[in-house]
Amino acid sequence: VKLVRYGESGCERPGLIDAGGILRDLSGHIANISAQSLSPKALERVRGLRADELPRVEKLPRYGPCVAAVGKFVCVGLNYIDHVREAGAAVPKEPVLFMKATSTIMGATDSIVIPPGATKVDWEVELGVVIGSQAKNVSERDALDYVAGYMVVNDLSERAWQLEGTGQWVKGKSADTFGPIGPWLVTGDEIADPQALDLWLSVNGKVRQKSSTAQMIFPVAKLVSYISTFMSLQPGDIISTGTPPGVGMGAKPPTYLKSGDIVKLGGAGLGEQSHTVTATVANGS
Ligand code: ZN
Repeated sequence: VKLVRYGESGCERPGLIDAGGILRDLSGHIANISAQSLSPKALERVRGLRADELPRVEKLPRYGPCVAAVGKFVCVGLNYIDHVREAGAAVPKEPVLFMKATSTIMGATDSIVIPPGATKVDWEVELGVVIGSQAKNVSERDALDYVAGYMVVNDLSERAWQLEGTGQWVKGKSADTFGPIGPWLVTGDEIADPQALDLWLSVNGKVRQKSSTAQMIFPVAKLVSYISTFMSLQPGDIISTGTPPGVGMGAKPPTYLKSGDIVKLGGAGLGEQSHTVTATVANGS
């Protein structure tokens, strides 16, 4: 099932995209796409609904973030071998983890806002994994049973704040609008192999990233298992699994986002995001 949250920001309703690509309203059956509706049992109930009997949404609305009330946004760094080389880093012996503020999260067509003082805003298309049931010290073999589904994530970064100041990456990863997700949350049963998904990203029509999750150093099952040894993963938590080569920082010369740019990104079977880049509006908005 392809789950969505549609409507104006803050008032999104749950929906699904049916086999014919038509948006159907789910609000008669579930309250939201969030922790309670992501368990295997809850997803089974949604799969059991007859999509053609759900109300059709006629006017194409905005797609908000496809998961609400996300508790944790855990990210994996340097998880594609070519991206490691591009970044001039050493190949990690175990997954590199960092956190991104959940206030970064926005919908698949909302604008990317360059925060005041930012000079090196960069893109990263990634496969996002959404947890469906609590995972704590789970084995790699069982790990995918704890996954509700998959989606596209753009792990936007301000490289100067991430790398040129002191300490941790969190500062460069956490500005508002730096975490678009969706448009759809595609449930795990529709993804035969999370390690065989093409990912791509373009800026102003020029393809910048084009790869496959087959190139990951640590696959999704390993990541879920590994992370669950350090913290419990809760329903609705997101793991963003790292980006392939082609980020702006690695270009020669380095290229960063500026106001007016159009960023499009997507994944096979996961839908497409499209964002206009804008500068921060005065007065804190
Ligand atoms: Zn990333």
